[in-house]
Amino acid sequence: MSIENLARENVRRLTPYQSARRLGGNGDVWLNANEFPQAPEYSLTLHTLNRYPECQPAQVIARYAAYAGVTPEQVLVSRGADEGIELLIRAFCEPGKDAILFCPPTYGMYAVSAETFGVERRIAQSTADWQLDVASIERQLDNVKLIYICSPNNPTGNLVNQDDLRRVLALARGRAVVAIDEAYIEFCPQASTVNWLADYPHLVILRTLSKAFALAGLRCGFTLANADVIQLLLKVIAPYPLSLPVADIAAQALSDAGIAQMRRNVAEVRENRRWLEEALNNLDGVDTVFASESNYLLVRFADSATVFKTLWDQGIILRDQNKQPGLAGCLRITIGNRYECERVITALQALSATTA
Ligand SMILES: *Cc1c(COP(=O)(O)O)cnc(C)c1O
Repeated sequence: MSIENLARENVRRLTPYQSARRLGGNGDVWLNANEFPQAPEYSLTLHTLNRYPECQPAQVIARYAAYAGVTPEQVLVSRGADEGIELLIRAFCEPGKDAILFCPPTYGMYAVSAETFGVERRIAQSTADWQLDVASIERQLDNVKLIYICSPNNPTGNLVNQDDLRRVLALARGRAVVAIDEAYIEFCPQASTVNWLADYPHLVILRTLSKAFALAGLRCGFTLANADVIQLLLKVIAPYPLSLPVADIAAQALSDAGIAQMRRNVAEVRENRRWLEEALNNLDGVDTVFASESNYLLVRFADSATVFKTLWDQGIILRDQNKQPGLAGCLRITIGNRYECERVITALQALSATTA
């Protein structure tokens, strides 16, 4: 008997998440994972590596709570927001019985995490303008324990209407948890639903240090929810989810100086996004540059396969979104620094010159 056959059936069938890192590429301009272009500099201040770390490092929790405007009891810290996505499934979904629901085109990890645990996935395809199809969500709610909604949505970049979010929260009350993925909320902080926690016991908000805080390599994310939800998640989290160096650097990133730096990062990204959007709109071969509230632009090209391959061969790595429902011809471009944005435009100009 092969080892393969020993594995759980849903694991044998599983297609792992195609992360930007797994997809590879030989680039010098990495615009495929929505990372910040510049590495922040931190040094370690905690040195007791002989000791196990705190499960929920108190200073990190206190600082994130103050930053987000919630109480420490409403915060869970984990190994990236991705671990938060998974903990919710582990705490709320019975394999073979319960389901999660999400709204493509959207972030791929909701589906992958559910699949790993053998939990059914339901799909409520977004409308043509990438808003929630609330009627479709309502029709499919039987046995759904968890609804994931990403806003600003990855990869489309738009915000989900707050009235629709409230309607879904009303439908789900007493039946399902609604997890709003705010991984990119620092780029449009006014759109956060964090102030709604008092109104909805079943609202969960996912956050991360990977994007605006420029710390994707740190692996640190947050789940915000009412205290009894956090208590349930603490039952299923690993005993030591964050290493001591991670807690050390996360606390520094959430100091006043760290938050001020994050805000400068956001201002730089927004300025470069404006520049890239305008330059793309002036190019032949670009069908649509979709408005974005985030640190990437979704762009529909007349010939996205040629664009992707040509830039790839020049070391400019973008993210192909062709396979997502409704996104034929679309590539997602992370907002890099100005030089990286210029490299994209120069490469696209050369391409349209050769094909004109
Ligand atoms: C990047 C991203 C995450 C994952 O964040 P990590 O903290 O790096 O795990 C979660 N949700 C969305 C929508 C993302 O784009």
